[in-house]
Parts: sequence; C-alpha cells; structure tokens
Amino acid sequence: KTPAFVDQNLVPLKYYAPSNSWNETAPGRRANAAFVILCRNSDLLRILGSIREIEDRFNRRYNYPYVLLNEVEFTDDFKRRVSVITSAKMEFGLIPHDHWFQPDWIDEDKATQARKKMISQSIIYGGSISYRNMCRFNSGFFFKHDLVKKYRWYWRIEPNVHFHCDINFDPFVYMEEHKKIYGFTITMYEYEETITTLWKHVKDFVDLHPEFVAEDNALDFLSDDGGTTYNLCHFWSNFEIADMNFWRGTAYTAFFDYLESQGGFYYERWGDAPVHSIAAALFASKDQIQFFDEIGYEHHPYTHCPQDEETWRRGMCTCEREQSFDLDSYSCTNKWDKIIGR
Ligand code: GDP
Ligand code: MN
Repeated sequence: KTPAFVDQNLVPLKYYAPSNSWNETAPGRRANAAFVILCRNSDLLRILGSIREIEDRFNRRYNYPYVLLNEVEFTDDFKRRVSVITSAKMEFGLIPHDHWFQPDWIDEDKATQARKKMISQSIIYGGSISYRNMCRFNSGFFFKHDLVKKYRWYWRIEPNVHFHCDINFDPFVYMEEHKKIYGFTITMYEYEETITTLWKHVKDFVDLHPEFVAEDNALDFLSDDGGTTYNLCHFWSNFEIADMNFWRGTAYTAFFDYLESQGGFYYERWGDAPVHSIAAALFASKDQIQFFDEIGYEHHPYTHCPQDEETWRRGMCTCEREQSFDLDSYSCTNKWDKIIGR
C-alpha cells in the first residue's frame, strides 16, 4: 500500500528514470583488462566506496572484472559485502609469501637502522615494514599473481578514492588502440629521504643496459639537468591504468631485479610510484604515456579535475576545476605538459 505522503499524481514515477541512463551497456570492443585492488579486510567500507563510485561512473556500462589481493585471506564477510555491490566478476586472491614479505637475505640490522632514522626524520610510513612490503609488491609482483596473469591491462584502485566524472569511453581500449603503456591523472614530487640512492642505481642500471632506454623517452620529466640528478617527479601510482606486458617485459624485469638486489625497498623506502614512473619514462617513448585529463580522480588529499571546461561539463563532474592539483606548485603536470609540447 502506498504511504499517504506519496502523492502519485504529482510527478509520474517514470520521469525519474530517463531512458537508458541506468542500465545501458556501452557498445564496442573490450580489452583484456581488470581492476586490480590490493587491500586489507579492515579496508572494507573504504573499498566499497571506491568500487561503488567506479561502477556508477564507468563500469556499470563496461563490466570489467575485479581482482582483489591480500597477504592474508579475505574473510567470508568481506567477500560477501564486496561482491554484492556489482554484477561484474570478482576474484579474491592470496599473495604468495615471497611476493610480500621481506626476503631473508635483507640485512635486518641495516633495515632496522634505516627505519629508525626515518622515524626520527618524521617521514610518512618511515617506520613501517608493511608499507615497504606493499611498495615492493606493487613494484615487482602484483602482475605475476595467478589471478592477474591472464590479463594484459589493469586499473589500480585503492580504498577511499573518488571518481568525480562520468567516464564515457573505455580507457583500456583507448590505450590499446593508441599503443600506450602507462596512464596517470596526478603527478608530484617524492620525499627525497625515501629514495636517497635510487637515482644512482638507475644510472648504474642504464650504464649496464643502454639498449633498454627508449629513443623518444621522457627523461626530461624526471631530470632538469639531462639525467645527472632526479628532480623527484613521479606519477602518483594509487591511480594507474597500464599495460602489464610492459612490467612483464625484458627491460622492466631486469630493472626491477636490479633494484631488488640493491635492497632499497627495505634499506630505504622506495615507493612503487617512483619505480614505475622512472621505468615508464625511460624505457617507453613519451607518447606511450597518457595523461587522462578527463578522469576526475581524488585520493586524499589531492584531486585531479578536468581542466577542459567542455570535458568537465560532459563528464557531469562533482569536482571543482580551480581546485585541481595540476594547478598546485607541488604538481609536476606542468612539466609533463611542457615535454609533450602542450
Ligand atoms: P598511501 O596511499 O601511500 O597512503 O598508502 P595506502 O595505505 O593507501 O596503501 C596503498 C595500497 O596498498 C592501498 O590499496 C592499501 O589498501 C594497500 N595496502 C597497504 N598496506 C597493506 C597491507 O599491509 N596489506 C594489504 N593487503 N594491503 C595493504
Ligand atoms: Mn592510498
């Protein structure tokens, strides 16, 4: 029985549901792609929010599958709560021990000293081992997981992120058709104390393997002096849409193995963001890297909002263009624009 306070004659219900707006399926081809999410059981509410938003803004029309990974088993309750919010396929995987935990050959005294020093410098996550495990896993292992291996493309999603605009195209197919390997929305400077010796090792690696450096690379995004020093610019990797064949390829495999052998994921606090960014900028050509201006994206405390007015309008964005991190002096996106001649 209709409650008394609902006046059926005021506005017929059908006008509330514009045709095709809530159940349409986007036409066209699909890519061999998945959302890849690393999170903990305790991230449940935050990952529900992220998935709900990417579904509303994109995936309800594209229906790409999800892979969720964790170094401990997801609980039945976690799986039940996450699966119910979308009809897209969802798989839950356990990370193999050696892909996550600190290797035995790491000198624990040296690693402890490094963490103590970073705590005294008040570096964010400076004292955390699990954060280091996470950075190493995202740098060198997620694309080797059994559940992820069958896919070529991934879109990384984190708990508690926001998608501010409708995404009315398929970024995976776009990247495939335009021969892109790495896509980003936000760039910034890294904390120097977390990567003190990283650039030296990058230069050593490039001296050993000059053949991996791409012809029309983006070195100028990373360095203001032709490669002598690192300017700390990187793509913010909590958002990534990328080609895992690049991470699985000869150049990146050798690069990661080299960095791993230096122990810097534990003796310092190398992030997957600078590691991925440096590799993409050096071992791919700059036109293989895609800045997705049209994807409004927020990861606390920063937001990227489309700078093009028409794009912002068409995307029905909830973000404010003037607040976009691109306009902040701590963003490297102006540098990116310059090197690709925008
Ligand atoms: P931040 O964005 O650099 O502040 O780091 P986050 O805390 O957001 O971690 C980055 C990603 O790794 C997120 O997707 C987290 O859910 C995930 N993550 C971080 N630490 C752990 C961990 O110890 N275990 C698992 N399973 N996921 C983690
Ligand atoms: Mn995060």
